[in-house]
Amino acid sequence: MLDFCIIGSGVSGSTIAHILSKKYKVEIFDKARGLGGRASNKRFIKNLSFDHGVQYISPKSKEFKKFIQFLFKKKELKIWGGNHLDFTFEKKENNSKFIGSKGNNVISKYYTKKIRKNFQSSVKSIYYNKHFWEIKLDTKEIVKARSVIFTCPYPQLKKIARNYLEKKFLKLKIVMEPNITTMIAFKNQKEVPVSSIKFNDEVLTWAANENSKKRFNSSNSLWTLQSSVKWARRTINIYKKTKKVENTLISKFLNFTGYKKNKIIFKKTHGWKYSYNFHGSPYKSYWNKKLRIGVCADWLIGPKVESAWLSASDLAKKIK
Ligand SMILES: Cc1cc2nc3c(=O)[nH]c(=O)nc-3n(C[C@H](O)[C@H](O)[C@H](O)COP(=O)(O)OP(=O)(O)OC[C@H]3O[C@@H](n4cnc5c(N)ncnc54)[C@H](O)[C@@H]3O)c2cc1C
Repeated sequence: MLDFCIIGSGVSGSTIAHILSKKYKVEIFDKARGLGGRASNKRFIKNLSFDHGVQYISPKSKEFKKFIQFLFKKKELKIWGGNHLDFTFEKKENNSKFIGSKGNNVISKYYTKKIRKNFQSSVKSIYYNKHFWEIKLDTKEIVKARSVIFTCPYPQLKKIARNYLEKKFLKLKIVMEPNITTMIAFKNQKEVPVSSIKFNDEVLTWAANENSKKRFNSSNSLWTLQSSVKWARRTINIYKKTKKVENTLISKFLNFTGYKKNKIIFKKTHGWKYSYNFHGSPYKSYWNKKLRIGVCADWLIGPKVESAWLSASDLAKKIK
């Protein structure tokens, strides 16, 4: 029997799994095919890849800064240099943009090297039999564990664990905003010499030049495009049914940059239904000592990788 069943291999799940694994028997279960959740890295061909979720990390708190510096010294992280154009002209701190040396799923990769991970293992339901948890997967397998920890977005958590969470926690007003992301590659396209572009536009708000991250050498030009929240709210439920959504995002990019449509050799669009919660919650993490059920996730604190890491660190303190 496991001491802890961790649901999710994103930053929260990997961080809490790493801390607990020093003392307990821990395993991770994730419905996805690979590691990292919303920080995952999608391969195009061979070693060419896109960060289709997290773009970069800019640590704010003392504890997280220390951890990021540690990964930086270990060369797991590097600084994303070059020109970052910002057409919103918003006032902001000029913080460094850290990226994973091989992909932005770096934190999950680093923390879970020695932890057993089960992918394509979607948790469907949980049952507490007064002694331990029975966690039922979509494969019909039942995992037994003394404690269970959820790290998935709030709507997904409530669907599975509603019967075991306190009323106050179930009544939280958490709004997880969507995002439409398109990964696109061009052949023989003269590159715009920038690393990223922040647009002041109703549809397209961000474009990242994957080649500028210097993880690979490619004659193809790879970009990740991300939509505005407002536009994603209108299109998240239809983007799979109509090509219009993808085409609108791409044509915005072509108009802004002058890139040519006939040079596109690859495009793939992903809709993130639960991207980020901008407002946090009164909790940093959730732990019910009696039932041994816990929750840590970014949305409890804010919309960033740092929020996920802080939430997991907070839960670890409660468990100890
Ligand atoms: C498009 C986009 C851009 C972003 N850009 C940035 C950025 O530049 N900088 C930044 O700091 N943050 C950014 N974020 C936010 C950042 O991705 C998140 O804050 C962070 O990755 C959340 O980590 P997490 O572990 O809490 O959740 P997740 O990464 O969502 O992990 C939850 C995991 O649970 C799994 N799961 C869900 N349900 C089940 C189930 N039933 N059974 C098994 N597994 C399940 C999921 O597959 C997932 O792997 C971005 C997010 C998005 C979507």
